[in-house]
Amino acid sequence: MTENASVNGRRGSEKIVVRDASGRWFFQGYLISDLAWRNKVVAEGGGGRLRWTDMQLYRATDPTKPFKYVLQTTSKSIVYHRADGACPHGLRQTVEKLLRNRDRYEALRPCPECLPGVDAHHLDSLEESAAVNVEQDRPTLYKCRTIEQVIDSLRGRDGTIVGLGLGLLDEAAENDPDIERALAMERPL
Ligand SMILES: [Zn+2]
Repeated sequence: MTENASVNGRRGSEKIVVRDASGRWFFQGYLISDLAWRNKVVAEGGGGRLRWTDMQLYRATDPTKPFKYVLQTTSKSIVYHRADGACPHGLRQTVEKLLRNRDRYEALRPCPECLPGVDAHHLDSLEESAAVNVEQDRPTLYKCRTIEQVIDSLRGRDGTIVGLGLGLLDEAAENDPDIERALAMERPL
């Protein structure tokens, strides 16, 4: 069993909504691996991380679709920068706009490079009309016909799979017998 209550292949398929840069997409399937909760635990434990990647792997159940797995990765950031362009990152947003999403606002942290030594409550000291450049979440989707394609999607530029991807596959193997078999199989190098 996995520690993540939301991962449960036995509950059957449902409408899943995923995202990429072009918008929101849906398909029928179920979640077989989810690393977002670990990131949440680290963040809430005061892990101090400013950027991380969330990953979810879904099994797709519509036989008319040409894919069997959907991998959602999301580069997440809670960093904001000075609005004068000292760092070339982020989307310019006013404090007033940011306050409309209170949870997000509370989570934001100043960039250590362009706002060195500034404490976590810096945003509170700004006028509502002031602007900062806020890094945005970057979702990416991979539609995969086979588990091999999922594995290839998890490889970095040097071809290796790093910790996060390994964790995702471990959990997926626990919840999906096809993945467990694929990972146990001997394959030519
Ligand atoms: Zn910066």
